[in-house]
Amino acid sequence: MSVTSACRDINELHSVAQVACKLFLEECKKAGLDIFITETYRSQERQDYLYSQGRSRPGKIVTWTLKSNHKSRLAWDIACNKPSLYDAATLKKAGLIAMNLGIGWGGVWKTPDMPHFEVTTNWKVDDEKMTLEEKFKPIEQKNLTEGQQNMLKRLAKIGAIAEDYKPSQIDLVWMSGIDSAFKNSGFYEFAKK
Ligand SMILES: [Zn+2]
Repeated sequence: MSVTSACRDINELHSVAQVACKLFLEECKKAGLDIFITETYRSQERQDYLYSQGRSRPGKIVTWTLKSNHKSRLAWDIACNKPSLYDAATLKKAGLIAMNLGIGWGGVWKTPDMPHFEVTTNWKVDDEKMTLEEKFKPIEQKNLTEGQQNMLKRLAKIGAIAEDYKPSQIDLVWMSGIDSAFKNSGFYEFAKK
């Protein structure tokens, strides 16, 4: 495959990432998100080529690393069929869905990469089959500081949490990503936008 074209084949991912990616796509479909995969596995040659964009060759910078989990077959990127290719509201909803599944989302990184998703090789499907309400206790019961609770409320206001969740559900929904997200300073950067 040429360095200028992206591989979109899920079957080119690591077997663990294939399961995660398919489950993620199913859940996005159930939530009514009209998204598609734009890239899965990426060769070192293509990573080098993308890295050179905006550096040694013209164009906008599209990547910050020569490494990337795409090379390890553990990452995939998405775009939206509608309303626009990189619709922020849709990507945020997809990000929440991913975090609910224990899948990493680039949207909470220090340098956010909202269309990017990735897993580690020890990712597992949560087979406890609990509903969100069963799975996550309300914020007040999670021993969060007042500052953390306020952050959650702010996130809801700025729309970092899917708009169609009722306020009473927002706390429950966000809990899925909170443990890892609060450790990530990028999360705060994201929340401020
Ligand atoms: Zn990516």
